[in-house]
Amino acid sequence: MAIKVESLPLGPVGANTYIVTDEASGLSAVIDCGAFTPQLREKLRGKTVKYIMLTHGHYDHILGVYDLKQATGAEVLIHKDDANCLYDSMASLAFYSYGQAQQPLKADRVLTEGDRIELGQTVFRVMNTKGHTEGSVLYIDEAGRVIFSGDTLFAGSYGRTDLPGGDDGKMLNSLRRIKALEGDYKIFTGHDQSTTLEEERKFNVYLRSS
Ligand SMILES: [Zn+2]
Ligand SMILES: [Zn+2]
Repeated sequence: MAIKVESLPLGPVGANTYIVTDEASGLSAVIDCGAFTPQLREKLRGKTVKYIMLTHGHYDHILGVYDLKQATGAEVLIHKDDANCLYDSMASLAFYSYGQAQQPLKADRVLTEGDRIELGQTVFRVMNTKGHTEGSVLYIDEAGRVIFSGDTLFAGSYGRTDLPGGDDGKMLNSLRRIKALEGDYKIFTGHDQSTTLEEERKFNVYLRSS
């Protein structure tokens, strides 16, 4: 693997916050950030964080982004259809599920299907997997065979479609597209333990039947 991945469950519901480091260049990115904690600050010490890459705009994945950006100066990347969640506490569900507003900020770069994000020698392709939210994405490192799946795909399960912006039909389509990806991938999910695409093809009934 050309990237090193460190994982910390952070924030009110323990969303996985990933520190991804391109081993060739030493550059890092943080994927989602449920809270900016002393532990995360300590893990980032000495690292150059180029990007904060968000899998979608829900509060549990973005509550730490404001402070993380202040601390690192990293560029905040999110799909265009979830970009409003960064400054709208209704859209991010912060009010609805967490009972308070988040600190608003703007994306530095909005993403669309097929975009490429270069982190040193590592390239992440953006796949817009609608269903959990309109702007949900997978970040796919094809060469390194790694996917960050946010709340779209979980080990043995998939993300809720009953929240605002969720859509069953679109989720089904997204699961089909994920299943159709070539070969195997290590999958780092938005919550709970990681998995692989091969495992999910075999054992995830939702992926099997999609
Ligand atoms: Zn979510
Ligand atoms: Zn979540």
